[in-house]
Amino acid sequence: MQELIRLLEQEGLDGLYLTRPENVRYLSGFSSPEDAQVYVSREGALLLTDGRYTVQAEEESRIPFKILTREERKAFFEGLEGRIGFEAEHLPYARLEELRELAPVEWVPTRGLVERLRIKKTPEEVRLIQKAQALADEAFRRILPLVSPGVKEVELALELEFYLRRHGAEATAFPIIVASGPRGAMPHGVASEKAIQEGEMVTVDFGARYKGYHSDLTRTFGVGRVDPEKKRLFDAVLLVLEEVLAQLAPGKPAKELDALARRVLEKEGLKAYFTHSLGHGVGLAVHEAPGLNAYTEEVLEPGMVVTVEPGVYLPGFAGVRVEELVLVTETGFELLSRLDRGWLEV
Ligand code: ZN
Ligand code: ZN
Repeated sequence: MQELIRLLEQEGLDGLYLTRPENVRYLSGFSSPEDAQVYVSREGALLLTDGRYTVQAEEESRIPFKILTREERKAFFEGLEGRIGFEAEHLPYARLEELRELAPVEWVPTRGLVERLRIKKTPEEVRLIQKAQALADEAFRRILPLVSPGVKEVELALELEFYLRRHGAEATAFPIIVASGPRGAMPHGVASEKAIQEGEMVTVDFGARYKGYHSDLTRTFGVGRVDPEKKRLFDAVLLVLEEVLAQLAPGKPAKELDALARRVLEKEGLKAYFTHSLGHGVGLAVHEAPGLNAYTEEVLEPGMVVTVEPGVYLPGFAGVRVEELVLVTETGFELLSRLDRGWLEV
């Protein structure tokens, strides 16, 4: 909490009104952060929620909390003074207008303040991400025997989801991607009614949410014998992943890793088909800082948890992505998935 008060001083703020659910959860431990906010002042942080959550706030909140009726909420805002920060990337404009009416203070847009604190994970956070990843690994192992020509993408997605939920995940990290054959060329091809065919490649990208923390995993495999022209895409993507992992270490600028990935694909004649960034941080949000892309100034530090997920997508033909989740350590990195990432034909 000292860090937060230092942030207020640094930004010249008297208070900070936080609405982004991941940030609310991070600071309070409260598991319904969509229905709560955190107000930070020089005295400390306070969770604000309503009468539906009295028992839950009592049980979960690591910081003092207030249950506010509509009138009490109004009075709370009327009592504010000075310069109060809000989260410009999260607070809708209409909410800001309401706040301005309630509290005639100077509302100051802020960006990424709590996200900066979240960027390096504590050992406890790492433990929760590891648990979320272990669930995903096991779910993936469980669906492989179910893969055969004629099975629909959505059937595999349902099996994954059922396994995750059955074993303690709160939810999937995001809508599960199962993209087979030409659908593999859609990087975010959410599982459809399409039946998987012999000779196709299948990309599965999914994760679990466990106690608020996420995992993220992608594997691409073949169903029966896959045409060498398609398999070549897999080999190229795996080569990128191996080359990037060989360079991944604390002190490394994230944009250098992204550039390295593109150089390797350029040699393979596939650079134009890699249409997204190389990776992203994972934690309370499934996509968070640091981004591994061409535009970031982030440098990897021990405690960061990031994905490395090169992919190539050839419209009308096929697509491949392979994604690993890694913890940056003092000496290099630790893979959080225990799954093999080599070529697999099922
Ligand atoms: Zn993913
Ligand atoms: Zn990802």
